[in-house]
Amino acid sequence: MQQKKFYITTPIYYVNDVPHIGHAYTTIAADVAARYQRLEGADVFFLTGTDEHGQKVQQAADEFGVSPQEHVDKLHQRFKELWVRLNISNNDFIRTTEERHKKLVRDILRQLHSKDEIYRDSYEGWYCTPCERFWTEKDLAEGNCPECQRKVDKIKEHNYFFRMKKYQRWLVEKIKNDPHFILPASRKNEVLGFLEKPLEDLCISRPKSRLAWGIPLPFDEDYVTYVWFDALINYISIHGSLDDIKTSKFWPADHNMVGKDILTTHAVYWSTMLKAIGLEPPKNIFAHGWWTVNGQKMSKSLQNVVEPNQLIDQFGVDVIRYFLLREVPFGLDGDFSHKALIGRLNSDLANNLGNLLNRTVNMMKKYCGGIIPVPATVAAEDNSLTEKSAEVIAEVRKLYNELAYNKILQKIWELVDATNQYIDKTGPWNLAKTDAGNERLKTVMYNSAESLRVLGILLNPFMPQSTESLMKQLGVATAIEEQGMNSIDKWGGLKSGSQTQKANPLFPRIEDKQAEKILAEISAPKKDAAHQITIDEFMKMELRTGKIMAAEKVKKSKKLIQLKIDIGTETRQVLAGISASYEPADLVGRTVIIVANLKPAKLMGIESQGMVLAAGDGDTIMLAGFDQEPGQGIRVR
Ligand SMILES: [Zn+2]
Repeated sequence: MQQKKFYITTPIYYVNDVPHIGHAYTTIAADVAARYQRLEGADVFFLTGTDEHGQKVQQAADEFGVSPQEHVDKLHQRFKELWVRLNISNNDFIRTTEERHKKLVRDILRQLHSKDEIYRDSYEGWYCTPCERFWTEKDLAEGNCPECQRKVDKIKEHNYFFRMKKYQRWLVEKIKNDPHFILPASRKNEVLGFLEKPLEDLCISRPKSRLAWGIPLPFDEDYVTYVWFDALINYISIHGSLDDIKTSKFWPADHNMVGKDILTTHAVYWSTMLKAIGLEPPKNIFAHGWWTVNGQKMSKSLQNVVEPNQLIDQFGVDVIRYFLLREVPFGLDGDFSHKALIGRLNSDLANNLGNLLNRTVNMMKKYCGGIIPVPATVAAEDNSLTEKSAEVIAEVRKLYNELAYNKILQKIWELVDATNQYIDKTGPWNLAKTDAGNERLKTVMYNSAESLRVLGILLNPFMPQSTESLMKQLGVATAIEEQGMNSIDKWGGLKSGSQTQKANPLFPRIEDKQAEKILAEISAPKKDAAHQITIDEFMKMELRTGKIMAAEKVKKSKKLIQLKIDIGTETRQVLAGISASYEPADLVGRTVIIVANLKPAKLMGIESQGMVLAAGDGDTIMLAGFDQEPGQGIRVR
């Protein structure tokens, strides 16, 4: 039989973003599917990476005073490091600034241009700089960008366009006829709704004069490639040249996994791009939901961004992996709360699964000398346990087709519960009292341990670390990936005669007092953090010394004095509300501290090009100064 191939991707994450629980969620979800397929014996390729071009990267690099390449070389590491900590088993990590990626993007552009799939045209429209997107008049939301609600600029320029519109009908048919193409079904309808309007051709270039940090168009070096057209190609650039991809075993992908906010871009841009290139669209695009935190949208200003590294330190990596996929149906939005996480840890993991392993290993030691026994008699209750196991395995396999992680975990827990009930019902502690009971005990202990082995394999994709520890305690030396799913097709794969190890709790319970302490700690540092800035943030503020060369009162203003300040390189006009404490004549010749990179603002019709530092307000104001003369234009830090 030919080996099954499986290719799954996460979106490439925007390199400027600080990795948060949302990034972790997508990547863990893809990792679970990849690990499961490996257990099924499939040839798996799992890809993640970072999106590193565009205006915002260039701006951020400028602010830090480094080149964009230096900036992304440093920043993408935060994602790589987090994936190591989260036990993510990706086969590769693509960065859009890598040569292998840039080369394919240019090859595709060249080919599409020569086939007249890309053409040049003049364009007039509304441009949102932060979103790097053009909008038509009717797209605008009250005159602003419909996506970020910011101001847009009218732009007229020449650009290059991809003939996307001609694929509209094909795409609609594809979505309607292939129920697996876009999942979940509710999201598919959103895309079809979007496609009810006529599709425009896609502007795929940006003039270099406006944006330099991108992949130059191969047929016109005055332009760079629109970030989306560049970024989407990551899913194939990993597999080599266009010819390589056409024969690659890993295309089309089984799942392009995306957040719901970028579903349309993938379903529409990506699918039509592939069609034009002559490649199949992915077999499935799966859009998952977003996380709120304690009912609120995650945002930097609310200081509620859940930091995955902190969670791992606090609860352990497998608890996080389990919680994120168990708490919410994959595809829907979810709410993250530490309280819910502690609840799941204590009940599902510590009480149900952890306790099952603990008592089985302890009884194995007590009644069987720590050696897995040879099962003897078979009774009705044994059969119902093995039947339950078979049912769970079959159902789990089916649920992986739709990536229904929370249902998979619910189903697996049916076997956890059934095994706990099996032990309660058969009562090994009573069986141990009689000779006949002792024969029965062998079967009961064997079955309990075998059931745990089945659970270890089923749960391995979700909790790789804990399940390896589970296997060790059961005395199974073979690695889980080597055992694979087919080792649980038939009951009885656990070897009799193996030596179990000392019981060691997989998931220590978090007691009420400790939980209270954790919850208090989690909310406390955030309050402080809201007032803290990093050294980088501080260094963005350019404080300089300046000498006041002239000063006069602003007419009709009680407070304002207009100053001319020499900051070494130039003279700035600055307004300061200090006339309650200073006479203009006394100010001339003084050295002050000025915020030199403050955005100019108009006060009483006069432009102020900076701000002078002072203490106090109202009637008494003291200008900040120096006890010696530092000279003009010196940076203050
Ligand atoms: Zn915008």
